[in-house]
Amino acid sequence: KKITIAIDGFSSTGKSTIAKQLAKELGYIYVDTGAMYRAVTLYAMQQNYISETFFNSKELIADLDNISLSFTFNEQLGFAEMFLNNVNVEKEIRTIEVSKLVSKVATISDVRKKLVKEQQEMGKNKGIVMDGRDIGTVVFPNAELKLFMTASADKRATRRYKELLDRGDKVNYEEILLNVQERDRIDSTREDSPLTKADDAIEFDNSDMGLKEQFERIMSLVNA
Ligand code: C5P
Repeated sequence: KKITIAIDGFSSTGKSTIAKQLAKELGYIYVDTGAMYRAVTLYAMQQNYISETFFNSKELIADLDNISLSFTFNEQLGFAEMFLNNVNVEKEIRTIEVSKLVSKVATISDVRKKLVKEQQEMGKNKGIVMDGRDIGTVVFPNAELKLFMTASADKRATRRYKELLDRGDKVNYEEILLNVQERDRIDSTREDSPLTKADDAIEFDNSDMGLKEQFERIMSLVNA
């Protein structure tokens, strides 16, 4: 029987790595909701609604209906890439510039409302793994399996640093560590749907746990 798997947690705790692997193993759809918040942020940057020094959230809210988000599965990569108004933005949404602004955009209730609705639509049929910050609490409160991932800030920043380095980005470890901590702060203290562990979520601290061990433990939960 197919189920809904909700994975939440702090930034760079390896949620998407685990989610992708689970989806592949189970033949489920994987949805990266962070990519959706990132795409809305990229749009706001392109339209000059937001920068490091200002945020005109009213203009963004008035323009939300013109933002169309979709995922297209890339066979070669083995996961779905993010499209913003029919343009592939998978690479652009992962830059440090977007990372620095995305949590501000994610505080806006109208943005959350739009994305939560689209996410619930995508998960109408079971057989889905979704990761984010509010999946077990808001998007799918009735998910059959909820995971909450944590890891030390240093482990998380190191992970993100390596990811960006592998992509060939110019990166600075300190800047990434600060960004990870700042996003966690904003995400956990915002008024609308703050990042918090659902009561029935199972917590995983993977600071010192290998991917294989983590995956095996989660698979045994799926099969329980
Ligand atoms: O998952 P990722 O780190 O790419 O998410 C980027 C940002 O998007 C988070 O730091 C958070 O501010 C926001 N987000 C959110 N709710 C989600 C997913 C992401 O607020 N479900």
